[in-house]
Amino acid sequence: MKIAPITYHRPSQLREAIDILRAKDGDAKIIAGGQSLIPLLAMRLSTATDLVDLSRIDELGGIDITDEHLVVRANVTQSQLLDNIEAAIRFPLLNEALSNVAHVQIRNRGTVCGSLAHADSAAELPATAVALEATMRIASATGVRELPAAEFFQFHLTTALEADEILTEVRFPMPPRNAVGTFEEITHRKGDFALVGLACVVTFDDAGLVESCRLVFSGVGPVPQRAPRAEELLVGRALDPAAVSAAEYATRRDIEGVADIHADAAYRRHVAGTLTRHALERIRARAQR
Ligand code: FAD
Repeated sequence: MKIAPITYHRPSQLREAIDILRAKDGDAKIIAGGQSLIPLLAMRLSTATDLVDLSRIDELGGIDITDEHLVVRANVTQSQLLDNIEAAIRFPLLNEALSNVAHVQIRNRGTVCGSLAHADSAAELPATAVALEATMRIASATGVRELPAAEFFQFHLTTALEADEILTEVRFPMPPRNAVGTFEEITHRKGDFALVGLACVVTFDDAGLVESCRLVFSGVGPVPQRAPRAEELLVGRALDPAAVSAAEYATRRDIEGVADIHADAAYRRHVAGTLTRHALERIRARAQR
């Protein structure tokens, strides 16, 4: 199917883009890489009278890395961030998550912020943003607001963004030196949306015991899901085989899972536990290096 006739705007100023969104009062959509939006419009699962292309807005381009943050602006593609060596060294979890997003052709067009704004519950980047405690910077006619990733995702394909708001950047705080992270997932085929994904970050104290743990899953609920009992039971313990087994078991109790044509909820719960084991074993090995 082809998309219905649509008016295409390509502003060069952020203010201009916001004014168009506001004037169209919910009938206009932002287009970034178009990798999710165009199929939805073509299949008539989404509608819009106008598209607002952000790619000519210079201030929405670029990656900044400071001692405090990694800043990824709206026009940065998934490939650009994946290929940024400094970001890969400082944020290995993010790099691993990006390498699991779709295929290279899609990552060359798809943007990091587009994936976050699209908020597919099976996508890698929303869970990763929650695990890394990212902040979303959002612009509208009334100014700029910031929102933690955990409050940004509201439901499958639904975020806290209003129709006249633009996600201008996502900011990842620099992980502490004692943090170790990894991303794990299970897919039918490489490049498919994952059945279940896991973004995991563990921090260790000076004695090598777990200080904090964040286990954030994709594909098991309408938004990124944490496993609170599994996280809590690890705190203050060595990440030894007994602790890993306990966390695997607790995850299966924490996670409800969802059923769809790809897998039932019980299978997803089982996979979530297995991913917990894989992630913690990998983190233990990395922490010992
Ligand atoms: P677009 O498609 O342009 O936009 C998506 C939505 O976000 C639209 O509603 C748009 O209005 C809104 N939007 C975009 N940018 C902004 C912004 N700055 N502010 C506010 N709203 C905005 N993704 C995965 O995570 N994992 C996968 O395994 C995966 N597999 C894929 C396989 C295929 C075959 C395809 C076609 C896509 C796949 N994707 C996957 C989706 C891909 O990652 C998309 O690139 C991404 O979801 C959307 O990014 P985009 O820049 O293309 O956004």
